[in-house]
This record gives sequence, structure tokens and C-alpha cells, in this order.
Amino acid sequence: MLDPELEAALSPIIHDVIASGGLLLDVRESEPHFWRSPVPGYLYATAWAPDGSGTGISVPAGWPRPAQIAELAEQLREIAIEARWRAEMSATWPECPTHPNSHPLEPALVSERAVWLCPKSGEAIAEIGTLKGEEDEDDLSAEEYESLTGVSKAEYEAALLEAARRVFPGPALEGDVQSFALDQAESMLVVVFTAHHLPGRLFGWRVPIWPAPHPSDRMTGTVDGLAVVLSVHLMELINDLPHAVRLSTDETGVEWVDPTW
Ligand SMILES: [Zn+2]
Repeated sequence: MLDPELEAALSPIIHDVIASGGLLLDVRESEPHFWRSPVPGYLYATAWAPDGSGTGISVPAGWPRPAQIAELAEQLREIAIEARWRAEMSATWPECPTHPNSHPLEPALVSERAVWLCPKSGEAIAEIGTLKGEEDEDDLSAEEYESLTGVSKAEYEAALLEAARRVFPGPALEGDVQSFALDQAESMLVVVFTAHHLPGRLFGWRVPIWPAPHPSDRMTGTVDGLAVVLSVHLMELINDLPHAVRLSTDETGVEWVDPTW
């Protein structure tokens, strides 16, 4: 478990690293070997990059929150820049919007706020924790996803299945999910469900998992977000079943519908 004080100071930076840097940095409890003699009064953690390399980070306990954020942002910015460079992404991060292709923004404490600063103009560009993705990033293949996040194809698919189980409604107004499964051979999420307005029938929905949304996508960049969006699609699909395209009916009586109906 991360110290709550440290976690609170880290969360706006982690947000920016995901939203604008397109990277998942996994910050966890400090590994002892990163700090031979920890100094009392400091909070320590280890930041893991997608390729599995770890770096120790630290900040004085008890500092005002914005000062802790600015201090940790400098450490995580260096880790993110190196990780982006290794993933063959631009190492100019976060890029200064006023001077494109020129320099990254620098974290600073201005009027007791933690901000990203243009080092050339000295202008505060954005509060740390509010960076947005520069553009909609393309969906990723399993190989691209792993090189960006360190999450393997099998891990992502298992996590999406778990998220769907958590997020999808049980008995709802329109229908009821009977089962979730993973078709590992074809990388499909397989959902079998009933619809109250079509009693006695079973329907199936096979959702292709790849290409997956880019992790910087604010709606679907996490498996939980994606599962929420899929659950909304399923509710729409149930409502629209009379018009949905049936692909086939299998020997167990499940009517498979077109996922792109
Ligand atoms: Zn600038």
C-alpha cells in the first residue's frame, strides 16, 4: 500500500502521464534496494515503467500538497520521458503548446499552485493534473498495447472479462446477462443474455477485443471504462433486438447477433 499522503500527491501527475503521455506508470510501495538508507521524514515509492524498469521516487512528508506535486512531477516526468523514448514516442513531454516541437513543459510551484510551466516564456500553461490528450490516438494491436503499457494480451483480456463481470448489470429493466466468457483463440468477449420482451430465447454477443482503445482515451482507455461503454451498448442492443441482425443460431439455441448491428 502506498502512503495516502503520497498517493494523493501522485494522482494528478499519474493522470497527466496517462492522458497526455499515453503511458501507464505503476507506482507502488518502495522496493528497499532503491534506497540504501531512507531518510526519516521522506515518503518513498517505486515507479514501474511499462517495460518493467523501476525507479525510486521520494518527497518530504508534511510539505504542502502543491509543493509535493511539483516535486514528484519532476521525478515522474523524467521517468515518463525515458519510457516514451524507449517506446519510440516523442521524448518532448509534456510538449509546450506555445512552442511545438521545441521543449517540454516544466513542473513548478506558482502562487502555491503546482503547474506546468513554459521554460521559455515562464508562463504557467496548465495546472498539473489537467493535461489532455493532444489528439485521439488510434486503437492499438495487442503488440502495440503491450509495448506501451507492459500489459500482455492475456492480462488485458482477463482484466476486461473481470471488469465486465463487475460493471455489467445483473437483471436489468431490459434483460439479464446469463454468462461471460473469453474466447481466447479468437480474442472475443462472449456475452450470453436474455431479453424480457422476447421471453424464452437466449442471445449471444461476441465482441472483438483487438484493436483495443488507446490507454489515453478518457472514456475507454481503462478496462473499467471500456466495460461501462460495452454495458451501455448491450442495453441498447437488447432494446433493439427485434431489429438486430442474427448471424446464426447454434445447437444450444443461442441466437448470435451481429456485434456491429
Ligand atoms: Zn514554451
